Amino acid sequence: DFYIKSLIQTVEDWTKERISFRDITPIFSDPKGMRMVVDAYIHRYIGSDITHIACIDARGFLIAAVLAYELQKPLILVRKKGKLPGKTISQKYALEYGESELEIQESAVKQGDTVLLFDDLIATGGTLFAAIKLLNKQGAHIKEVAAIIDLPDLGGSQKLRDSDIPVFSLCAFDGE
Ligand code: AMP
Repeated sequence: DFYIKSLIQTVEDWTKERISFRDITPIFSDPKGMRMVVDAYIHRYIGSDITHIACIDARGFLIAAVLAYELQKPLILVRKKGKLPGKTISQKYALEYGESELEIQESAVKQGDTVLLFDDLIATGGTLFAAIKLLNKQGAHIKEVAAIIDLPDLGGSQKLRDSDIPVFSLCAFDGE
C-alpha cells in the first residue's frame, strides 16, 4: 500500500552498519495511517475462522492489540525471555550475531486453536519461526502470518510459504 509505505522511515546503518532500519513509528503518530493499517487487517480477517491472535514483542503488540479488540479475539503475547510470569515454554533462535529466546505462557493456546500470528516486519523469519514452534508445541495451528513490512531479499516470507504457512504483508521493500 503506497500511503502506508510512504509513512515508513528508513534509517541507514542503524542499529548496526549496513542495516537499513525500517521505522514504523510514523504510522503510530499518523491517525490516518494507523486506521489504514488496522482496517486492512480487519478487512482480511473479519470473516476468518481464526480463534486467537498472537503477536511478537514489542512493536507487534501495538497493532495486534487493536485488531484483537476489533475482531473480538483473545490476544496471546509472545515475549522476550523473562517477561512473562507463571509457567512458560521457551524457544531459542539464531540472530545475525548470537541468539535470542521467546516465550509464551504454558496454557496460552491449546490443540485445535487457529492462530493469526502478527509481527511488524518479516526479515529472515527466524523470530516468526521461533514463535510458530511455541504455538505448534501447544497444539495450535497457524492460519497465517501477518506483518506490515516484508523484506523479501532476506528470504523469511518465502521460507514461511515453503513451510505451507500463508503470509500477508501490507508492503515490501524489495531491493531497496
Ligand atoms: P527476523 O527474525 O530476521 O525475521 O527479524 C524480524 C524481527 O526483527 C522483527 O521483530 C523486526 O521488528 C526486527 N527487524 C529485523 N530487521 C529489521 C529492519 N531492517 N528494520 C526494522 N526491524 C527489523
